[in-house]
Amino acid sequence: MKNLIKRLVDLQECDSQLVKLSTKKVDLPGKIQALEDAFEVFKESVAQNKKKYDELKKSHADCEVQIKKNNETVGKTKERLLEVKNNKEYQAMLKEIEAADAVRGEIESQMIVLIEDMDKLTELVKRDEETIREATQRHEQEKSILARELEEVDSEVAQWRGKREALQQEVPPDLLGRYERIKHRNHGVGVIPVWKGVCGGCHMNIPPQLYNELQRSAELLSCPNCNRIMYFQDPGQNAKQS
Ligand SMILES: [Zn+2]
Repeated sequence: MKNLIKRLVDLQECDSQLVKLSTKKVDLPGKIQALEDAFEVFKESVAQNKKKYDELKKSHADCEVQIKKNNETVGKTKERLLEVKNNKEYQAMLKEIEAADAVRGEIESQMIVLIEDMDKLTELVKRDEETIREATQRHEQEKSILARELEEVDSEVAQWRGKREALQQEVPPDLLGRYERIKHRNHGVGVIPVWKGVCGGCHMNIPPQLYNELQRSAELLSCPNCNRIMYFQDPGQNAKQS
């Protein structure tokens, strides 16, 4: 009898582990995805300065293109100036050149402001990049821990199943059937420790007489409330079988 309850307890351990593992297998991919999503949001929030910097840089490049075009236009106007026949036309062209110069002056002032703003952001962008670099390392570590856990689930399932099958051979079929039925009706737990007169499954008090019997008798007794197979166990010691 001692051995039987020990086997049932071991069987219960296998079943509980298998339930845990199948939950893990369902939950882990979602956890990994959630980690990934949260990290993307974090990166996006930290990357605001860089985004602003890139926008300024783009504006600066646009200004350069405008100045180049402006210079080309002025250059052509100046060439045409040499061929001008009358004074009126000549004056008009001078005005064109003057206007283009004014535009260029404006663009150049804009560019100075852009460069100043970019300079201010440079330090912040560097700091943010360092923050992201460190966070990426941590993130990758966390992710690889979860990925490894997920990889290990299948082999752990195989181990516990193997162990369970071996144990099952050593439990009489009628007892195995009783255990399975009770387990099925009790959220996967069919065998339960009892200590100080309280069932470890439903936490109800066991009648004193039954509790005494549990400590003395060789019979496999069930909790009158939840019907689980009971065994006497002092939490401070290993399972002591009745
Ligand atoms: Zn109970």
